Amino acid sequence: MQSGEPREVAAAAMVADGRLLLAQRVAPPELAGMWELPGGKVEPGETPADGLRRELVEELGVRTAVGGRVGADVPLPNGMVLRAYRVTLLDGEPTALEHSAVRWVGPAELTAADLVPNDRAWLPDLLAMLSVE
Ligand code: C5P
Repeated sequence: MQSGEPREVAAAAMVADGRLLLAQRVAPPELAGMWELPGGKVEPGETPADGLRRELVEELGVRTAVGGRVGADVPLPNGMVLRAYRVTLLDGEPTALEHSAVRWVGPAELTAADLVPNDRAWLPDLLAMLSVE
């Protein structure tokens, strides 16, 4: 990379009808079965919004609009940074193409969900998002 900015993993806080979309990881073994905000690595030359829209086509088969940031940066052990963005569903029904399942959760289910540790840091921000939708 030419800048000092770390490579980014962008994750989607997709909310519709007062519920948030969670996706269940299949790998690596220590995270398999846990739930995350879907997303992935932003490629060089992509904006985070471009990368996240691409990942959501690949992972969920949906067309989306990417909005502002949610929650704090999460530094990843590999030197990358994980960031969440508000996402609106434009077209399609989210389908688990690369996950084992997807589900829409309200505040109680979100709080009870077995979230991947990195995403758990965003729980207060995600609950706040749901309460104002
Ligand atoms: O999904 P993928 O394996 O491409 O994600 C790259 C890295 O970002 C992994 O280390 C993964 O655990 C992490 N990640 C995360 N929370 C997400 C999405 C990805 O911790 N919601």
